[in-house]
Amino acid sequence: MKVEILPALTDNYMYLLIDEETKEAAIVDPVQPQKVLDAVKKHGVKLTSVLTTHHHWDHAGGNEKLVKLETGLRVYGGDSRVGALTQKVSHLTSLKVGSLNVKCLCTPCHTSGHICYYVTKPNSSEEFTVVMNTLSTTSNLLDMLNPTMSASRKSLLGPR
Ligand SMILES: [Zn+2]
Repeated sequence: MKVEILPALTDNYMYLLIDEETKEAAIVDPVQPQKVLDAVKKHGVKLTSVLTTHHHWDHAGGNEKLVKLETGLRVYGGDSRVGALTQKVSHLTSLKVGSLNVKCLCTPCHTSGHICYYVTKPNSSEEFTVVMNTLSTTSNLLDMLNPTMSASRKSLLGPR
């Protein structure tokens, strides 16, 4: 898997998640849709999914525009307030981006309905976690978060 970090607004980031095997891609929090489409074009991949962390405008504010520019997108999020939402997810919902597995973790710390996405590639040690727009390996970050999060991690991964 490949992840390109796209700076957005003044202090935010969008993440373009690419499954190199199928050339399918997902974008996390596409607040600046044109920038996303430029990156998609640059990599020669097919954008199929939008992973929304939460409904605030600086994260979900580009969803409506993006689905107009690029039709047929699946828009995931854990809150009905997420713009252009097509697939409402909850804790431990699984989805796929190409051959990549994405597990949704309910993390209602910043706002209710906040979702983190834990991405793994089958038969590989590659992993990627989106936690409040922060990129990190799973273990260290999840431990830093609140008890809900630790519980989420345990139910997902088992104690480590
Ligand atoms: Zn926010």
